[in-house]
Amino acid sequence: MSYEEDGIITNEDIQIPSKERFESGPVVIIECPQSIPCNPCVDACPFHAISMNDINALPKIDFEKCTGCGSCISKCPGLAIFVVDTTYSDNEALIKIPYEFALPKTGDTVKALDRKGELKGDARVINVIKEKDKTGIVSIAVKKTLAMEVRNIRC
Ligand code: SF4
Ligand code: SF4
Repeated sequence: MSYEEDGIITNEDIQIPSKERFESGPVVIIECPQSIPCNPCVDACPFHAISMNDINALPKIDFEKCTGCGSCISKCPGLAIFVVDTTYSDNEALIKIPYEFALPKTGDTVKALDRKGELKGDARVINVIKEKDKTGIVSIAVKKTLAMEVRNIRC
């Protein structure tokens, strides 16, 4: 099934970094496959890694310019921006997730969910960032094999 058919994003619907780029450290993953008039992500990136042909176009990512800093995550009104670090540890990947519900605490164990909301296992909360009037960002560690599957948590 594609996003067009069931509204659920798959890895085939989005721009994915190369294996080599994943292996070089944290990198942005933008899950925004629908053309809508929106572009805060473009101005949010201090490294000019995100561009757009026009305000109705899909964001284009230059993964070589992206440092994985995460500055763009809380600027996206669609909660469509994540950062994935498959180099976090031997067995785990770190995923930074935009989160607007009651935030967990660093050290908590939460449920890791995929894009359909299906349970994929446990995740450890590594860090939580919440600035006034901004979307929270929860960093979680999950099994490395789940790096491109887990996109939400349940506390
Ligand atoms: S993670 Fe940082 S460098 Fe990468 S696109 Fe977002 S703001 Fe730019
Ligand atoms: S800010 Fe978010 S929703 Fe808007 S175009 Fe960029 S990625 Fe898509």
